[in-house]
Amino acid sequence: MASAAVLWFGEQMSAVPLRNNKAAASAIRTVTVLGATGSIGDSTMDLLRGARDRFRVEALTANGNAQALAKLAREFNARFAAVADPSKLSELKEALAGTRIECAAGESAIIEAAARPADWVMAAVSGAAGLKPALAAVDRGASVALANKECLVCAGDFFMQRAQTAGARILPADSEHNALFQALSSGNREELVRVIITASGGPFRTWAPADIEQATLEQALKHPNWSMGQKITIDSASMMNKGLEVIEASYLFALTPDQIDVLVHPQSIIHGMVEFSDRSVVAQLGTPDMRIPIAHCLGWPDRIVGPSAKLDLAKIGQLTFEAPDFERFPGLRLAYESLRTGRGATTVYNAANEVAVAAFIAGKIRFGAIARLVEATLNDWIRSGNLAPLTSADDAISVDHNARNRAASLLPQIARKAS
Ligand code: NAD
Ligand code: MG
Repeated sequence: MASAAVLWFGEQMSAVPLRNNKAAASAIRTVTVLGATGSIGDSTMDLLRGARDRFRVEALTANGNAQALAKLAREFNARFAAVADPSKLSELKEALAGTRIECAAGESAIIEAAARPADWVMAAVSGAAGLKPALAAVDRGASVALANKECLVCAGDFFMQRAQTAGARILPADSEHNALFQALSSGNREELVRVIITASGGPFRTWAPADIEQATLEQALKHPNWSMGQKITIDSASMMNKGLEVIEASYLFALTPDQIDVLVHPQSIIHGMVEFSDRSVVAQLGTPDMRIPIAHCLGWPDRIVGPSAKLDLAKIGQLTFEAPDFERFPGLRLAYESLRTGRGATTVYNAANEVAVAAFIAGKIRFGAIARLVEATLNDWIRSGNLAPLTSADDAISVDHNARNRAASLLPQIARKAS
């Protein structure tokens, strides 16, 4: 496995290794996939399927789908398989009977999966539940492909510090951040002016505010370009996902909010750009297929052969751009505000959004109320004087937990209030 974390640009430290210092890659790398049965998990397993000679699977995890997990564990001959839901252990054991695959259940089993020796770990559990397992991989100095943006939004400073201390490499797997990761290596920190992350604008990009307010679940789940899990698809429709990504970029690359711009780009071909002092803008392009950024993380510091479609710009014809609308999509404004506020505010932003999205899916609130609940929770949190730096995972989890309770208690009044 690669040794210490790489310093990035000049004196600014980060655990994201921005220069291609080619580590001596062993012939076969061991990998673990946390959240193997999800959308990112599926793309990761697909890439591993195509490169069996280069990777061996150590551990795979899922929340409750024991059958799907067992099928993957058998296919890849994993050493360890874990489900988060303890009631699914017997089903998992039965499905793996006759194999030598160890299995376990519960939150501690997911953490154990991350802690087992694998060179490379995909952190693709959804939501704040992904924080502790990702930290377990970080703490033993692994290369961690980070899809779970909630880790950074909930506990960004602290997460990146732990990665530096342990010598872990954080490989950004989210498509926009992976694009920045690739583009940033064109210059150094002193030369960086800003980064630009693109947003498709989601299904409601051109909708009037009154229609966005009343949008149904079915409409919110129709993403124009990307096929993803349910939560992130709804976040894309509200542009909360872009808000989470602004916060993610800030922690990953040690950037101030003013150094991060969002640009609406409906075709989702350019994923991220970096502007340097000479006004050169370096971009990463590719078809909207998560296997491209994941393949970059999997191959890093080399590149593997990817199965994704070739980019055909002549066929696409036009790439278009628009400024984001902070009024129709207040979730994006709230992300910048919570990032500027700091001291746990981004944790509150994420927690309140998770509560709001669950309430929207359950039919308890209108689509437009998602951002209102997040804003009300943030204001309530700030008014109550609860802001304080987060110094441990337990701190972050406690703020996350309290913010969820606060959001849940504000929910009935937000649900009653018409826009
Ligand atoms: P998903 O819902 O499709 O899959 C989530 C995975 O995590 C599943 O394997 C599920 O079993 C597991 N899981 C869920 N809750 C768990 C819990 N409490 N404990 C243990 N395991 C649990 O989600 P996804 O779309 O694959 O997204 C995963 C993460 O990657 C999210 O943080 C998301 O924001 C991020 N991400 C996703 C995409 C995408 O294209 N899907 C793109 C960028 C970033
Ligand atoms: Mg993204």
